[in-house]
Amino acid sequence: MRAMRALKSIDDLEEAGLAAAARHAELSDVAARYAIAITPAMAALIDPADPNDPIARQFVPDAAELVRLPEEREDPIGDGAHSPVEGIVHRYPDRVLLKAVHVCPVYCRFCFRREMVGPQGLGTLASQAMDKAFAYIADHPEIWEVILTGGDPLVLSPRRLASIMERLAAIDHVKIVRFHTRVPVVEAERVDEALIAALKSSGKTTYLALHANHPRELTTDARAACARLVDAGIVMVSQSVLLKGVNDDPDTLAALMRAFVENRIKPYYLHHPDLAPGTSHFRLTIEEGQALVASLRGRVSGLCQPTYILDIPGGHGKTVVSASTIEDNGGGCYTVSDFHGETHAYPPVVTVKD
Ligand code: SF4
Repeated sequence: MRAMRALKSIDDLEEAGLAAAARHAELSDVAARYAIAITPAMAALIDPADPNDPIARQFVPDAAELVRLPEEREDPIGDGAHSPVEGIVHRYPDRVLLKAVHVCPVYCRFCFRREMVGPQGLGTLASQAMDKAFAYIADHPEIWEVILTGGDPLVLSPRRLASIMERLAAIDHVKIVRFHTRVPVVEAERVDEALIAALKSSGKTTYLALHANHPRELTTDARAACARLVDAGIVMVSQSVLLKGVNDDPDTLAALMRAFVENRIKPYYLHHPDLAPGTSHFRLTIEEGQALVASLRGRVSGLCQPTYILDIPGGHGKTVVSASTIEDNGGGCYTVSDFHGETHAYPPVVTVKD
């Protein structure tokens, strides 16, 4: 049966049959540290009889989150090192993140900003801070793209989103506004006419990067919400995190990427999991990730290929970490691998006949 409201506490999870009462104490320790929320749509997708359910793994807290490794960091991708004013992260020359809100409809157990999001997190940007953030964008003509992230910017009301978009509309050098969100999947009913009108109200080109990690998340309701967005002229791309026990097998990854493409969402980034505190149970090695990404080559259409990305800890930005398929032998000669893993000389060796 579908819950009527989001599950936000250990008691809620126990009542819904998603947490065992015997684990109450340890899960309460997790809840005291990291926010919990599971929307009715995501709770309905969980099979409580499956201890390895990939949806539960993403949203139901686990005692493993209390294990913190020395290499894990509170700000794993180094937002703080590039924040000139509150709410802005300016890491790359032509784009900024605008973190207007630090609330999400669901709280992912592997979240890279888990120390900042949630009811005890950084909250919503106050109006004075918002003024300073817009002044910063207006004062930097090199900023071509503004990426609204957080938190999930689509938890803001259409009225507040429209007001942000109107302020961006007034800044000529901003041409692209991108939203990073899970809402079309986890709370599809929010994607209504008012929200779509707000997303388009700046007159800029609007992109929406949808975060989803398992093909089951693309429910009928989620697919309909994405169709409403794309039909309205919003360009959609995907973002997924490669997660142990969720999508770390070739069939699941292929099905996820195909589901995106079938719904007119171009696979964009597949993130290697960040070094967020208490998330080591989600991390695979880069070598394992490379093998999984390589398994997509040839197996599924070129449209379905995401870029495998690592955010370098310390705020050094993103780098592509797919295994190389080319080896430089010098003198303009290379060895290239095909999708079966077989190697070939490029240019091909020419045999001269007498
Ligand atoms: S929706 Fe994004 S910001 Fe929110 S908890 Fe999940 S990963 Fe973190």
